[in-house]
Amino acid sequence: MTDATRRDVAYRAGQCARCGRLIVGDPRGQEVCLDIIGPVGVVAIHGWLDRQCQPEPAAVPAASRALARRLIGWYRSTHIEPLALAEVDHA
Ligand SMILES: [Zn+2]
Repeated sequence: MTDATRRDVAYRAGQCARCGRLIVGDPRGQEVCLDIIGPVGVVAIHGWLDRQCQPEPAAVPAASRALARRLIGWYRSTHIEPLALAEVDHA
């Protein structure tokens, strides 16, 4: 499998994906990535969480679901790949 068709997009680069505050300091380790598989390949949506919005371990599943819904909703509302999105809608 090749990554030739993989596309990387950033959700609110430089900002917290949950609260919108600017990410201060080193963003490494605060990044989350959601891969969406579509008919034309994988789209990797990258987002970042600041320290205040890092969920407690017990809250990770719920926080992950909420963040995934937000990222997918954002991605679908953009027009990065309208053809791929239209095909996904009918899958
Ligand atoms: Zn935050």
